[in-house]
Amino acid sequence: MALVKSDMRTFSGIAASPGIAMGRLCVIDRSRAVVSEHQISSEAVSHETARLVQAIENTRVELETLKSRLVGITGEAHLFFIETHLMILSDERLVAETSEIIRTGMVNAEGALRRAMHRYRETFAGIEDPYLRERISDVETVIERVLHSMSGGTVEPLPEQDGKIIIAAHDFSPADMLQVNRNNVLAIITEIGGQTSHTAILARALDMPAVMGVEGITDFLLDGATVIVDGLSGAVIVEPDQETFQSLLRRKQHYEYVQCELLKTVYLPAVTLDGHAMSLRGNVEIPEEGASVLGHGGSGVGLYRTEMLFMNRTCMPDEEEQLMIYRTMQQAVAPHPLTIRTLDAGGDKLLEGMGQNAEVNPALGVRAIRLSLSMPDEFKKQLRAILRVSADGPVQIMFPMISGIEEVRRAKALLEEAKQELTASGAAFDGNIKVGVMIEIPAAFILADLLAHEVDFFSVGTNDLIQYTLAIDRSNEQLSHMYQPLHPAVLRSLRRVVQAAHSAGIPACLCGEMAGDPLYLPVLLGLGFDELSMGAGSILRVKQILRRCTLERAARIAEGCFAFSTAAEVEMYLKSQITFDIAESID
Ligand code: PEP
Ligand code: MG
Repeated sequence: MALVKSDMRTFSGIAASPGIAMGRLCVIDRSRAVVSEHQISSEAVSHETARLVQAIENTRVELETLKSRLVGITGEAHLFFIETHLMILSDERLVAETSEIIRTGMVNAEGALRRAMHRYRETFAGIEDPYLRERISDVETVIERVLHSMSGGTVEPLPEQDGKIIIAAHDFSPADMLQVNRNNVLAIITEIGGQTSHTAILARALDMPAVMGVEGITDFLLDGATVIVDGLSGAVIVEPDQETFQSLLRRKQHYEYVQCELLKTVYLPAVTLDGHAMSLRGNVEIPEEGASVLGHGGSGVGLYRTEMLFMNRTCMPDEEEQLMIYRTMQQAVAPHPLTIRTLDAGGDKLLEGMGQNAEVNPALGVRAIRLSLSMPDEFKKQLRAILRVSADGPVQIMFPMISGIEEVRRAKALLEEAKQELTASGAAFDGNIKVGVMIEIPAAFILADLLAHEVDFFSVGTNDLIQYTLAIDRSNEQLSHMYQPLHPAVLRSLRRVVQAAHSAGIPACLCGEMAGDPLYLPVLLGLGFDELSMGAGSILRVKQILRRCTLERAARIAEGCFAFSTAAEVEMYLKSQITFDIAESID
């Protein structure tokens, strides 16, 4: 690499996938299809509509072909992206709304599609949830494919990738991502996209550094330049000078050293020094995360937040659609267990498209299990879909936001009805499927001794448990200093839940964010939790600390926490007790 003279330029963007890569920049033109809009006569309306329908069908065939080509290469889990695009293509509204624009606007199909795209962009821009807002990129990718098809072309496969390169593109679709040759492509830089775009998710799943939202990086004058991508900070450095290069090289080596150290624990059991096993599992929202959990050493999924599937749409997903998505997740996680949480909508996760309105006090409103119980037919659709997946491998059901015994009994009664309906229709399912509840509301941990006799496991949702116990809105940044996982009231609640679970002979799990913080591991282990479930990226760090603890010492540390009366005191005590250096092991 030529590093003496300084033509160095630094760009900054969003750190979308961690890691640092150095290589030759390869600018790829994934430009938009060149199409124009023109007026048409009323006689041409049906012809243009037919062209639209044909182009959509051609695109479908193109995607199906791509899918079958990639099956053997990437595995089913990653094909979820193509499934998503196929689903968008088969949405009748795409044809209906675009045909309507052709008819009322008297424009050709290409123009109508671009106008429809414009409307979708406006609708998506108004969505508060950043993850869902960014789903517009899937819609855009699909419509671009249809437009390419109309203009006579298909979306070109990626060019042959020689040598070690870093790809820069205006946009880079998940399907593009699946085609990259991972032996040659070291990193991805895009001008658009964000942290939660599918491409970013896939980059993380593939352990490929990525920086997104880097304006101007596709300038063809930069093609072939030496570039460093820092997926940890979001920096992109073109033609780095000697000093910058050396400093980033050291940073890269340190990062890789830490990752290598952590990866050594992937296949090691999650056991303490004195041989006590603890299940470390992953929290997931969309199917492609399942494979990532296993890749990070997780032994299954402890929390699958299904509400993602219900949002940003005008009608509930039917049983078959739910079954398909849950099955994809189950296959990605097999042979490990998959814990599927029933719909946890409401509160800050409104189903606006289905007419669910904001309430005066949404955190205390019609949400989670209350919402499901208010629409038993829809709830049973979800239960039947989960039950049917349980025929394929170990699956558990978990009810969110339980506040009392009646709710559990009503939910279980509907589960029984769902089982009977499946039996009547001859569908297979696990008749002994395990049923658990989330402990998130003070009433639930106060009643934990009674609840424990109703279910097969507890899973503590500390994100909400802390919010409701301390009356601190978990998303209010002004109160964040008071949102204290080590608050004595929280610790007493956790202890109570574990004791109630174990007295009744059921496991105590924890799936809030607290599970992924290595500092809390000795306390949670010492309190007796059997399972922790967390974001995939946290599993290895937590496992590393677990393997340096003994259960006996952790129990003493946990007990010691109860001698203090404030969270600050507990934290100070905790840090003084941890003899191994957490900071050194994770930075
Ligand atoms: C929790 O409350 O801790 C939890 C895991 O559920 P969510 O974050 O989805 O509310
Ligand atoms: Mg919760």
